[in-house]
Amino acid sequence: MTVFTTRLTGSEQLAEGTRAFYLERPAGFDYQPGQAVDLLLVETTEGQTLQNVSHTFSLVSAPHEPQLTLATRMRDSQYKRTLGSMPEGTPLWLDGPFGTALVPDSTQRPLVLIAGGIGITPFISILRDAAYRQSQRPVRLLYSNRRPEDCAFLAELQALECTIPTFRMLATMTNMASTAAHWTGATGYLNEAVITGFCQDIQQPLYYLSGPPALVEAMYDILEGAGIDEDDIFSESFTGY
Ligand SMILES: Cc1cc2nc3c(=O)[nH]c(=O)nc-3n(C[C@H](O)[C@H](O)[C@H](O)COP(=O)(O)OP(=O)(O)OC[C@H]3O[C@@H](n4cnc5c(N)ncnc54)[C@H](O)[C@@H]3O)c2cc1C
Repeated sequence: MTVFTTRLTGSEQLAEGTRAFYLERPAGFDYQPGQAVDLLLVETTEGQTLQNVSHTFSLVSAPHEPQLTLATRMRDSQYKRTLGSMPEGTPLWLDGPFGTALVPDSTQRPLVLIAGGIGITPFISILRDAAYRQSQRPVRLLYSNRRPEDCAFLAELQALECTIPTFRMLATMTNMASTAAHWTGATGYLNEAVITGFCQDIQQPLYYLSGPPALVEAMYDILEGAGIDEDDIFSESFTGY
């Protein structure tokens, strides 16, 4: 892999405790939708040596976009405190891209994308790319969050349902008891009945799982239990959550 030099060009809040970070796209940095990078911070803004200078992030941006976007849950780790307090223009290093370029073009089989929380990041890249290329491939997204205020990219995903005629999303909230937010969509955990019911109009899909390891393992078990061939299941486990 190649290490590229970049710069932070801005950041914004996407959902409660979740921020997007915008980076200059270095010359020659080419990638596939759904790939990831290692983001190396040079030094902390706390005047200490970073214990863990590099974290892996999926690219949210799609290859046609002029800038790179990452998104993360802003937990109270030394790495995230440093990232979150960096001024615009701060130099950074990118190692990558890498990862199973998630959606092979060699097949036009429908896709079922299952995301837990911040696991939505590679799927935003894939869907932005599908919209840009006016893809006709059927895609179903099942997106689980605890509460509406945790749900990053919700408005963009709802808009993409209009832009991509073959795309449908089911967003579900698993902990409405802890919020006063308005939500008229689905609630409760994803299970076999919910997944198969939502995807019953598509044939022989490929399944992609993305999110915290516990979510990915749980979804894998459900799909295997439903008789899905393990060769048709791909997963991106966000180690560290
Ligand atoms: C392929 C891939 C894509 C990812 N994409 C995203 C993304 O788009 N957005 C996002 O927010 N997060 C993503 N992650 C997770 C991210 O790399 C961090 O691990 C996570 O954000 C937690 O970092 P932290 O600073 O909050 O916690 P930390 O305190 O840094 O980490 C929490 C604990 O996990 C351990 N840990 C952290 N990273 C790793 C690792 N890579 N391998 C093994 N142990 C580790 C630490 O040692 C610590 O014990 C991805 C991970 C992978 C592997």
